Amino acid sequence: MILLMVNDKKECNRSCNHCYLPYQGKRSAEETVELVRQLKEQGELVSLAGSEVLTDLGYLEAYQKASQKYILTNGILLLEHPEIYDKLHEQGIKEVRISAHFGIEKMLGSVPESDVATVIEEAKNEGLKVQITTTITPENYRLVESMCDQSKYMNADKLEFIRYVKAGSARREQRRMLTAEERAEFFELVVEAREGFDKSDLEIAIHGNFGPREGSRGERLAKFNRYCPAGTFLFVVDPNNIVYGCPFLMDFPIGKLVEGKVEVEKELCGGKRDKCLTDYLLS
Ligand code: SF4
Repeated sequence: MILLMVNDKKECNRSCNHCYLPYQGKRSAEETVELVRQLKEQGELVSLAGSEVLTDLGYLEAYQKASQKYILTNGILLLEHPEIYDKLHEQGIKEVRISAHFGIEKMLGSVPESDVATVIEEAKNEGLKVQITTTITPENYRLVESMCDQSKYMNADKLEFIRYVKAGSARREQRRMLTAEERAEFFELVVEAREGFDKSDLEIAIHGNFGPREGSRGERLAKFNRYCPAGTFLFVVDPNNIVYGCPFLMDFPIGKLVEGKVEVEKELCGGKRDKCLTDYLLS
């Protein structure tokens, strides 16, 4: 799977303190469409992301070519220009994934929860599925139950927790990642919270960057050193054709994209794949 990152933090209309994207540059919409065409022709599975992709609606054609039905956005442009929904429908987008960093939005400088709530309401009225993505830090990891309640109240279909990692701009922050003990407590709180929600009302997910949870499929994969796909099954390409293993590991280049082919020059963490590689490289 190849993830193309189309634009950098400078191109974004927000400047979150914890932004994990360190690369610079932008790939034009036309070049992106052409690259997706080339990669698909070679039989690759391709997806797209960036800092804020709606800053150039030309990227949406690439989503359609990649058969990608969801879009990651901070929601600001959807709030300011609701006519963008027509373009999303035209290009086959069925789901909006938007960040709401419950309890820490001021600290992170991210989009206020009230604005996110308005975007979700409009997206749902447009017939789109909505996922909320929430960053988890030592400051908010105990708020699991209230974050789930709030997501349900906002009418989201899914809430996904992502662990705060010291990548990109976050490397310069004083804040720390969860300790192993805090992470274990967080897992327990999520298991408890899931009992209170029917999946059809609110799906509650934990991103793979938390590492394997006891009793999960991830733990079984970890036993065979197969937990992390970064740089083996997953490659991330920035606008300068530099290749990385994972969107959270873009401080560590591993190769290049040459004429549409990934050329890997370096193995991450000496082949250790029993946990999320951010644990080896960023903590
Ligand atoms: S480093 Fe590996 S396990 Fe961690 S988020 Fe990236 S791909 Fe997933």
